[in-house]
Amino acid sequence: MPTRVLVTDLDNTVWDWFAAWYGSFAPMLEELVRASGVSRDILEAEIHEVHQRRGTVEYSNLLDELPSLRKALPVVLEHEDRAVWRHYQSALDILRSGRRANTLLYPGVLDTLTRIKAAGMTVIAYTESLAYWTEWRIRHTGLDGIIDVLYSSPDHDLPLGMSTEDLRSRPDDYYGLERTQQRHVQRGVLKPNPEVLLQMLGNHGFRSSEAVYIGDSLMKDIAMAQAAGVLDVHAKFGEAQMRSEYELLRRVTHWSRQDVERERELIAMNPTILPTYTCESNYSELLVILGLETTHG
Ligand SMILES: [Mg+2]
Repeated sequence: MPTRVLVTDLDNTVWDWFAAWYGSFAPMLEELVRASGVSRDILEAEIHEVHQRRGTVEYSNLLDELPSLRKALPVVLEHEDRAVWRHYQSALDILRSGRRANTLLYPGVLDTLTRIKAAGMTVIAYTESLAYWTEWRIRHTGLDGIIDVLYSSPDHDLPLGMSTEDLRSRPDDYYGLERTQQRHVQRGVLKPNPEVLLQMLGNHGFRSSEAVYIGDSLMKDIAMAQAAGVLDVHAKFGEAQMRSEYELLRRVTHWSRQDVERERELIAMNPTILPTYTCESNYSELLVILGLETTHG
């Protein structure tokens, strides 16, 4: 049966999410240590606590909820509205510029997706990341409209007294997509549960035999596609878990301790999830797999 739909993971499959996170978060943390005088260990522990509570490592209101930063404010500012935001503006500026500079598509992605669409296929993106920053990344990288439908997690709970509008009116946080249709998956439903993938294919009138799925995680993406009977492609070039910088993400993660340990164990065990196809070094290797190009090179 010909392939009619490509379902693509986003983070570390079309862009290097980890590089963008690390390249913005790590220098922001350095600047917070410098500007506040609070130790890095204390800040990391408090950040970990907020990420756990909020279920994301991209929480827009993070600085407001770190007790040590508030305590380190100059006395004159203590009771002022938005004092934390104003006093640590330099750290926020570093975070924003780091995010912009490091959120980049992998080579070959734009051209490959454009050709897949030109061949008449539908492109669906499926990510566990939250809608807000995913939509920002899609706009920033020029994928608005290249992706037909985006499935992402609903946004995090907002802090008391803060509306979605407040968050979204912040500079650089322009929100929403013009041409890509946006859908949400149920909160707490996670890969590798195959039900969500089957449901989204069904929503758009596709059978699993008409779909190809690509993602960087063997445990999440490849296991899910195989369980759903969808042809799987491993984006091997996107694997980030072996990089030494990944330890910072583990220290401040929103994942539970069990999740982190399970991932570590599975990596050490060298899991027996074998992908059907692999893109070794470039997303464009998909074109050969989809039969849109005879040889790659
Ligand atoms: Mg991924």
